[in-house]
Amino acid sequence: MHTAQTEKTPSFIAQQQLGLDGYPLGRTTDILLGGGLCAYIPESEEDSCRTDERDLLNETMGLWNVVFTPDELSAADALPLLGLFATEDLAYAIDRPDSQPGLAAMVNKALELLTAATADSDKGFFLFFENEVTDKAQHANDIVGTVSAGLELSETAELVKEWVTALEERGDETLFLLTADHETGGLGLGTNAVSPIVEYTYGINPFVIANASHSSTYTTLLLYAATAEGNLTLDQVHQVVADNMALQYFSDDEATLIIEAANTGDVYSILAALNAAVNPRVQVGWTTMGHTAVDVDIYCSNNPYCSAFYGSHENAELLELMLGFYDDDDIDVGSVTEALVGFNATASVDGSAESEVSARAIQSERRRGFLESRARGAVRR
Ligand SMILES: [Zn+2]
Repeated sequence: MHTAQTEKTPSFIAQQQLGLDGYPLGRTTDILLGGGLCAYIPESEEDSCRTDERDLLNETMGLWNVVFTPDELSAADALPLLGLFATEDLAYAIDRPDSQPGLAAMVNKALELLTAATADSDKGFFLFFENEVTDKAQHANDIVGTVSAGLELSETAELVKEWVTALEERGDETLFLLTADHETGGLGLGTNAVSPIVEYTYGINPFVIANASHSSTYTTLLLYAATAEGNLTLDQVHQVVADNMALQYFSDDEATLIIEAANTGDVYSILAALNAAVNPRVQVGWTTMGHTAVDVDIYCSNNPYCSAFYGSHENAELLELMLGFYDDDDIDVGSVTEALVGFNATASVDGSAESEVSARAIQSERRRGFLESRARGAVRR
């Protein structure tokens, strides 16, 4: 469950576990929901992000239930279930179009179907979900997008806790873990803003976030798309910023900086100029557009085993701690890892592996250019 199944952790889970082309473990996944439709369609089709003619969607049809809209998701009542709701990434919660379900809706459906499917089984299930847009928004130093994603994650966590309680009531021991793989952006709160309109010298001003109806990433893409019609005007910038972010006392000087940035044709320059107006008003600052080594929290719920997660841990320790929750005979990670490592080693020399390698190349390319593809899309719209 992810913004784009083509990215990071779920990508590898998806590639291995759709079980379509002789992966050694066969199909071991029952439900996959998120964006990333572009990776399922052949290169020659519009919006594809593949570098070959493989049609995963076609291969999946008939083997999986496949849904594309929130209504279809809500009506889905059988596993295995594949949901593809966006060409690439899902939108931040605050920018979400009606064509995409929220994280909570996806998690709720997954828990509903998995709970039903395991009602008469002693096997249980493992559900992994990720709110990748927290990372995306922080790469963009986008405080509105970040807070909107954080609120959505919090809402989803509440929902999961209710499900866990229900599972316990039917006698299933359950562990709910929530953490981050890393911090992004080096977000600092209570920066000593230089903007004269900010009255506080300490603290943050959440009302700026509350007033916004869209993220600065979304607003940037609107401004960028407008440059296709010619140079931006002061009125245009004022209008777009007022309509989407409702910044108080947004000045001609600030609008001029955005116009100058837009004239360079670089979407990141527009984003930086807009963020330079937003972040000081909120009194937040960022140290980077990349990942950081800042410690992240681990939350654990509904089980005495949670005490294993107290204190500070290296990220690699998490797997060991999670495995400690199971009885030794229940799970054999070693042999599964061996099968996958062996498979990947041979995969890198044969034909099908080439597409794996290029899929990974696309992935890292796309991670570097987290805004470019969306900028192109914004111009097309
Ligand atoms: Zn990232």
